[in-house]
Amino acid sequence: MARNLIAQVDLSAIRHNYQLARAQAPQARAVAIIKADAYGHGAIQVARSLESEADAFGVAAIEEALELRDAGITRPVLLLEGFFETEELPLIQQHNLWTALHSIEQLEKLEAYLERHPDSRGLHVWLKIDSGMHRLGIEPALAAGALQRLQALPAVEKLVVMSHFACADEPQRPHTERQLQQIDKAVAGHSVDLSLCNSAGVMHWPQAHQQWLRPGIMLYGASPFTEPQTVASRLRPGMTLTTEIIAVRDVQAGESVGYGASWVAEKPTRIGTLAVGYADGYSRHAPSGTPVWLNGRRTALAGRVSMDMSTIDLSLHPEAKPGDQVELWGANVTVNEVADWCGTIPYTLLSGLTRRVKRRYTDDQPF
Ligand SMILES: *Cc1c(COP(=O)(O)O)cnc(C)c1O
Repeated sequence: MARNLIAQVDLSAIRHNYQLARAQAPQARAVAIIKADAYGHGAIQVARSLESEADAFGVAAIEEALELRDAGITRPVLLLEGFFETEELPLIQQHNLWTALHSIEQLEKLEAYLERHPDSRGLHVWLKIDSGMHRLGIEPALAAGALQRLQALPAVEKLVVMSHFACADEPQRPHTERQLQQIDKAVAGHSVDLSLCNSAGVMHWPQAHQQWLRPGIMLYGASPFTEPQTVASRLRPGMTLTTEIIAVRDVQAGESVGYGASWVAEKPTRIGTLAVGYADGYSRHAPSGTPVWLNGRRTALAGRVSMDMSTIDLSLHPEAKPGDQVELWGANVTVNEVADWCGTIPYTLLSGLTRRVKRRYTDDQPF
């Protein structure tokens, strides 16, 4: 028998979540963000299951886009950081990829390339402006000039202006409104499609929806917010991570469990050992007390997560035995909750799942 650690991916749930994102802004189109192997869910499988509804897919770089093309995905694919080297431009054209353009240097490279290839046509360019996140994008004051230069290129068939929010997941902070003002100023007088919203924007900032959404984490059923949220409550988990108990023992009061002897039994305690560890992507930052789901009830980690194994408290589970299934995250213990315990966000847990975890796919409506 193989190690029974499985990430079950519910493709119908991901489609449901995509539709929920679209329903927030029925007039807008959406780039389904499937970078980082669809946040650990498997980019090819997710793309196939969304191919008839997603308007486009978004990835971080051309390597990820070409994997989709190799797998037969034909929908437009947006490179969220654009091209890193000029050599990518012929591939971008050949494979119908859309490119972000986030700096004047990139614009110059594009112009130089098009001078050498004057017959190029059909490029979709998403001009990224830095409206306040200060990570990528050209200064708002330079946006008008860049737009003019792009509009002057016959190769550029379609232009979209994109920007990214620093604090859309923290509605009470003033940053998003300030960024919206910067964007308004930058595109004043230009009639151009806009794309501003990640999941948090889709879920909370209707005034920012504009023409193109860019939902990522919400597709996978996790919330970008730490507080409960109305749209978040309607998401369905995209992944259930389960493993099994591989050993059970009784430890006496005063005995410790695991590396560093960090957890000490206050009373005689049954301990279950699970086949999951940090080399699978189950975080070592998950402390004792992090919930898991076993036989219809919760229990919790007791002792440090090690590379291949973890240990849980079975005091309230006298029936538990080797072979019993344990949900690490899914519908009963959400990945948001586990992330909270770990002092991180669901993005890192999901995208951090390693190759060692088998993915299994379910779909209510196989096609
Ligand atoms: C990753 C990414 C997104 C998606 O963000 P979520 O918070 O996962 O919805 C959107 N836009 C850009 C530019 C990104 O890099």
